[in-house]
Amino acid sequence: MKISWRTIVLWSVPILVIGFFVWQGAFATNTTAAIGNNTASARMTYGRFMEYLEAGRIKSVDFYEGGRTAIVQAVDSDLDNRVQRLRVDLPGNSSELIPQLRENNIDIEVHPVRSESAIWGVLGNLIFPVLLIGALFFLFRRSNNIPGGPGQAMSFGKSRARFQMEAKTGVKFEDVAGIDEAKEELEEVVTFLKQPEKFTAVGASIPKGVLLVGPPGTGKTLLAKAIAGEAGVPFFSISGSEFVEMFVGVGASRVRDLFKKAKENAPCLIFIDEIDAVGRQRGAGIGGGNDEREQTLNQLLTEMDGFEGNNGIIIIAATNRPDVLDTALLRPGRFDRQVTVDTPDIKGRIKVLEVHARNKKLSPEISLEAIARRTPGFSGADLANLLNEAAILTARRRKEAITMLEIDDAIDRVIAGMEGTPLVDSKSKRLIAYHEIGHAIVGTLIKEHDPVQKVTLIPRGQAQGLTWFTPDEEQGLISKSQLMARIAGILGGRAAEEEIFGYDEVTTGAGGDLQQVTSLVRQMVTRFGMSDLGPLSLESQTGEVFLGGGFMNRSEYSEEVAARIDSQVRSIIEHGHSVARQIIRDNREVIDRLVDLLIEKETIDGEEFRRIVSEYTHVPEKEQFVPQL
Ligand code: ADP
Ligand code: ZN
Repeated sequence: MKISWRTIVLWSVPILVIGFFVWQGAFATNTTAAIGNNTASARMTYGRFMEYLEAGRIKSVDFYEGGRTAIVQAVDSDLDNRVQRLRVDLPGNSSELIPQLRENNIDIEVHPVRSESAIWGVLGNLIFPVLLIGALFFLFRRSNNIPGGPGQAMSFGKSRARFQMEAKTGVKFEDVAGIDEAKEELEEVVTFLKQPEKFTAVGASIPKGVLLVGPPGTGKTLLAKAIAGEAGVPFFSISGSEFVEMFVGVGASRVRDLFKKAKENAPCLIFIDEIDAVGRQRGAGIGGGNDEREQTLNQLLTEMDGFEGNNGIIIIAATNRPDVLDTALLRPGRFDRQVTVDTPDIKGRIKVLEVHARNKKLSPEISLEAIARRTPGFSGADLANLLNEAAILTARRRKEAITMLEIDDAIDRVIAGMEGTPLVDSKSKRLIAYHEIGHAIVGTLIKEHDPVQKVTLIPRGQAQGLTWFTPDEEQGLISKSQLMARIAGILGGRAAEEEIFGYDEVTTGAGGDLQQVTSLVRQMVTRFGMSDLGPLSLESQTGEVFLGGGFMNRSEYSEEVAARIDSQVRSIIEHGHSVARQIIRDNREVIDRLVDLLIEKETIDGEEFRRIVSEYTHVPEKEQFVPQL
């Protein structure tokens, strides 16, 4: 937002008003303070005062303001001789009055001029201009801090349009890594922007809109910026959520302004982030539509239809939810090209890490491949964040270069949140230790389970203790026996609590585990056909009803089937639970030893864990899926 003069003038009005009152207040106290608490509302002329004096009806005189004003107590004969307090303005020097007052035995009191009241008076007069200047200064400062700052980025405050323009993004394709397919598809767009005549010459019409689909942090914005950067055209951006605020009509006018500015700057690229915020299916809202959103969407459609593809504007929109978009947006001539931007695989992660390692000091022993292997499911933004966290830790530890230690800590932090302080040794620490060792021992002794990476009692985020398993590289398909192993592993924590402390002592600590296991098992039954119900898909994967679409997909089955699903879920969970309990029961001796060690050391790594367990029982070899690089 840029602050215009209009805004300043608008803002000044309340400030002026407030200023005026402050000023008035200060000024008013100026006089009342001088009269002290003896405020007398009624006045009396000097002449009348003299008459009263002569008539002996004045009882006392208090002089104020160096003798220029007096408050007198006068007996009013008209009002049953009531004593009245009246204010009299005295002419210049009142010293001649004093002897006369003394003659008549009148009480005299002189109140000094209060010097601080004079100061207040001056301050009062100053406060208002100072306030005004301060407020204007504040507004100007704020206006300079708004997006982009002093660089090339520029924003338009005019007519409420809130979009950013970057004349040069400075981002190149080489800065975007690990999403090669998306990059390839979009390289063509660069040519559209750079040499449209190549296409128009053969009668090809240039596409107007490209929809980037993918989870947050996968580099969609970055990719759009890279297209603009490679083509050397300006980059206009706005977020869909910014359209949908404030009043009806504002969003539509922003769209108009955006396209107007874009046309003036063609060839250029318009990037609309979170387009699902405006582009949701119309009329799908339950409880009334959203007029503002619909108007904005209609305006967007109108603008997109209103220009020829050949005038050098390409619109790129990003979303994570293409399924909720209004079909009108996806028609030919609008966002008719969809490009998927997914989280990178291991090779992709290595490349993203390479990009972000460019400006960091890594110690030579660091292998980006090892980091990539440990971070399946991480998006580009997560990886960038990971290296940055590691760099911060390195600086904090006053090291020269990032080592594997910082990387490990940063990974843990990115996955599970900040470390808390460990519990002091207590019954609940002991219970948490048994719970975690329970997960770890079940995971270790079932062949199909991922191997334990470490067990720790250092709290992180919500968790009081954690057991880490070396994650599977994304092998895509997971077998039923692997899922059954996972179920037993997840239930291992609660099973250990039950075995060791008894059923009455189990805690809420397993709540998350139970939730996880229940949803996993439900999916096995209803989606993967892994139960006695047979190979049926009973639920599709669509999201909530109110997001539009997916309205009819829930519960396509009868109540009878629902009951059978529940009983299948229950029996699978019970099976996993009994497997876990059996393992805990059979290995009580080593579990006790591991718990003591864990409480002492707070962390046991996977190697050591397996070594200790193997002193007591056979530890099955695990085959780790090692991806071919
Ligand atoms: P999205 O728009 O998909 O939510 P962004 O493009 O805003 O994600 O990504 C945020 C940041 O994460 C980028 O500025 C960049 O530093 C990093 N990043 C994300 N994806 C990649 C990638 N594929 N290659 C390099 N850096 C990436
Ligand atoms: Zn647990």
